[in-house]
Parts: sequence; C-alpha cells; structure tokens
Amino acid sequence: MRRLAEVLRDWEAVIGLEVHTELTTLETKMFCGCRLSHDDEPNANVCPVCLGMPGALPVPNERAIESIVMAGIATNCEIMRRSMFYRKHYFYPDMAKNFQTTQGPVAFCMHGRLDLEVSGIGAQERPDGTTERTADGSYVTPIRILRIHMEEDAAKMVHVGGGEGRIGGASESLVDYNRCGAPLIELVTEPDLRTPEEARLFMERLRQTFLTLGISDCSLEHGSMRCDGNVSLRRRGETELGTKTEMKNINSLKSLHDALEYEICRQAEVLEGGGRVYQETRHWEPSRRRTVAMRMKETADDYRMYPDPDLAPFDLSDEFVERCRARVPELPDAKRDRYVGSFGLRRADAAQIAGDPAVAALFEGAVAASRGGVAPTVANVVVNLLPGHVLSAAQVSGLSNLLADDAITFAQARELLEIVEGTDADPERVVDERGMRQSTDVGALETIVDEVLGRCADQVRQYRDGNRKVVGFLVGQCMKASKGTGNPKLFNQLLSQKLGE
Ligand code: ADP
Ligand code: MG
Ligand code: ZN
Repeated sequence: MRRLAEVLRDWEAVIGLEVHTELTTLETKMFCGCRLSHDDEPNANVCPVCLGMPGALPVPNERAIESIVMAGIATNCEIMRRSMFYRKHYFYPDMAKNFQTTQGPVAFCMHGRLDLEVSGIGAQERPDGTTERTADGSYVTPIRILRIHMEEDAAKMVHVGGGEGRIGGASESLVDYNRCGAPLIELVTEPDLRTPEEARLFMERLRQTFLTLGISDCSLEHGSMRCDGNVSLRRRGETELGTKTEMKNINSLKSLHDALEYEICRQAEVLEGGGRVYQETRHWEPSRRRTVAMRMKETADDYRMYPDPDLAPFDLSDEFVERCRARVPELPDAKRDRYVGSFGLRRADAAQIAGDPAVAALFEGAVAASRGGVAPTVANVVVNLLPGHVLSAAQVSGLSNLLADDAITFAQARELLEIVEGTDADPERVVDERGMRQSTDVGALETIVDEVLGRCADQVRQYRDGNRKVVGFLVGQCMKASKGTGNPKLFNQLLSQKLGE
C-alpha cells in the first residue's frame, strides 16, 4: 500500500468522529437509583429498571442532564429547550430490555463547534477559507459538532474459557450489568476533519474539555471515553462525499490515528484498482495493524426508533440552562490565553498545562507559592520534569525558585525531585542540608576560570582558531575544579567572556 502522505496528495480524506463519554463522576445511573461504580462485585448494582423487568419505569437523572448541557455549552452548541428520548431496538444480550434509550432527531445539544489548533506536521489549511493562521504559524480550524445526545450504556460482557473450535476462542460469555444503564453522552462531529492527526488532536481537545468540566474521568484506556472513526476519500477538488467506513470503539489516541491512516491507504488502493468501498463497520486490530470488515451498516430504520412512551418530552427552563452555564469553569483555551497573558508562558507550555485541570491546579498553586516572575520556570518544571512524578505545589515552587536563582542545575533539579517525591520535604532545605547549592559568587568562580584557562592552553588556542565547541570541555574542567558547586551557566558565560577578550 502507498504511504499516507503520498495518498493525501491525490485524495482528500474526510473524517467524522462519534465519541461516547460515560459520565463517571455521577453517583447514580441514567434512569434508576443504582450506584454507578466499576469496582463493585459483578451484578451488585442492579434493579428492575436497569434489568428491564416488566412494568419498571425509568426516572431521568437530573445531574446527567446538567452534565450534558454543560458539555453543550463548552462546545458552543445550541441547547434545545425541548427534546425527547427514543427507543432503539436490537437484540442486545448486554441490555436486557432489548432496546436502548437514546435520543431522536433533536438532541439536548445541537450544532456546536470546537476550534482545533494544528501546527507542524498534519497542519492543513482549508480551501474554503475557514482556517485562521495564528501569530506563531499554527492553523485554527473550527470543527463543527452536529449534536450531543444522551443515552444509556450497555452491560459489560466478558468472554471466557475456550478451546478447540470455539468462536473467538471463548466457550462462555459472562454479563456484568453494573454498567447497564450508566449515563452516556454521544458527541457526533460533522465530517470536518481531514487527517488522522487532526482526528487525534480533536479527541485530545475534547478529552481536555470534558475533564475540565469534571463530567467524566475520560479514560480511553478504561473505556469511559470511546470513539468511532468514520472515513471516506474523494479526489482533491471534488465536493461530493465518498462512501465511508466506520471503525468502532477505538480505545487509544494512537489507535485512532493508526486505524484512520491504515483505512485511508486501504481505501485509496481499492479505489485506484477500480473497486468500490462498501459502507461497513470495520474493526481495528492494533497487533496486526490493519482493519477487518465486521458487518454491513444497519440504517436507522432497521432499529425501529420511536419516542419512548415512558419518558415525557423534556422541557429545559432558562433557569436550568443558566444554572448549568454558571457551573462551566474556565475552559482550556481561555486558561491558556490567561497563562500567556499574565504569566508570560510560551503558548505551547501554556496549552499543555491548561489541558489537564489537575496539572493546571498544581501549576497555579506553585506559582502562588513562588516569587514573582518565576512562573515560566514553574511551567518548565511542570512540563519537562514532573510528568510521571507526584510533587506538592510547595515542592514544585521550591524547585522552581532554586532553578530561577541558578542555585541548582536542571540535572540537579531532577535528582532533587526524586529525593523529595513522596515526602513532605522542602527542596530548598534539602539543597542546603546536602550542600547541593551551587555557587553564584562570581568572584570565586572567576578565580577557578582563570586557573582552568591557565592550564588548558591547547583548548584556548583551539577556541581562538574557531573551534567553539571546546567551551564544553572547559566548563567541565571548571565544574570539576569547583567539585560540582559552581554554576555551569555562569562558568559558560565567564569563559565566553574571557576567551572573547
Ligand atoms: P451513521 O448513520 O452511519 O452512523 P451518520 O450520518 O450518523 O452515519 O454519521 C456518523 C459520522 O460519520 C459523523 O461523524 C459524520 O460526520 C461522519 N460521516 C458521515 N458521512 C461521511 C462520509 N461520507 N465520510 C466521512 N465521514 C462521514
Ligand atoms: Mg454511527
Ligand atoms: Zn438500576
């Protein structure tokens, strides 16, 4: 098969995503009072409603409606004042009532937009002029959101046992109804994405937005956020949409990217060979790095969708919507702009920190505990040192103060981080106790520099002959002479000064 970059020269990929997010931060399920939890014994959290017993009546979870309205506000959707729940029929071993309660043509949230900022590889301007160029050369493209609707999750099935000749290798299927009836929101984009990288970034941004709203733990790995990728190809310049295929339940950003990449290349090969793409559901096999056909697509008619007679149409009051609006916190884009504007952070650092509410809270706590002007150093620590570690805001602040003072090197900061992690030790105290603090006494350092220059005549000559790299060697000699207590940055400055004389 041809490579993606090559395929995309002749073909335009058209991608739309359907993203399911379970509202894991709620206490109870969507239409009953059963506890929402994943750690309990299988089938511990069930009742007549979520088991589909005859005569059991659903009662909508108000907190779930609040969450979806907040999601709609955060993605610039129109909040529909009247919408309904529908029944979608199917044979569902994992949903005992054999229909899923979902929404019809009108969802709680319609016609939204999430701006995607793409830079570097994969950045693509839209021929229709919807793309804006930012000062630092990235592209901002609005991705339209068709709708966000409310539905309920199905139970979890576990396939076990097995042996010769068993389909899929399992002999038994177990069902855990704890997840059955869990509140789920589904967001559907318009087919506005153009590359696997854009799709990956969109998912990431959506995840950041929902995490910031606090409506879900948004774990792709554990399945509280899952995504279907739809993709078709058309010749560049063509405006009609091609036939799409759909990859279901993708559970990592990398899989989303790789599945779309594979599928784009596969479709190009089919179309270039004179074949046709069938509208079908395909399954991504990460281990074999390919998609395989699963089933031909059902249409909405096949599901016999109709309004659920047990659930009255939903009328949202202005007051309710305003209450939801008031609960929407500062969103990642606004936070990023504030970090750039008031703390002077680099845009990329600011965006990375603002994307994760826990990281943002730590950053702000550390900035508040630090001296003025240290914020960019705090950001540096948070972005480049902290991932994979857990420190308190006070410890992050301590490390940042030391770095900003040139009292320690970045390598020492890394060492220090490992010493204080998991304790309540103050990095500034540890530095003093262990004598790690570096000398910034210029007079003392100058003496060392002079001594080193005196005995390294060869390197000095090489430097003056144009070999600037020997400075590294000389800094090393100075560090050694100072027994590691000198500041390498200052040594570097002093050496360059003296050698330039
Ligand atoms: P389905 O009924 O197959 O689920 P929808 O019309 O509901 O299809 O669209 C599902 C997703 O597929 C949406 O995100 C939409 O933007 C996207 N989509 C629709 N048509 C195409 C197409 N021709 N190529 C790529 N994506 C598409
Ligand atoms: Mg679909
Ligand atoms: Zn229940």
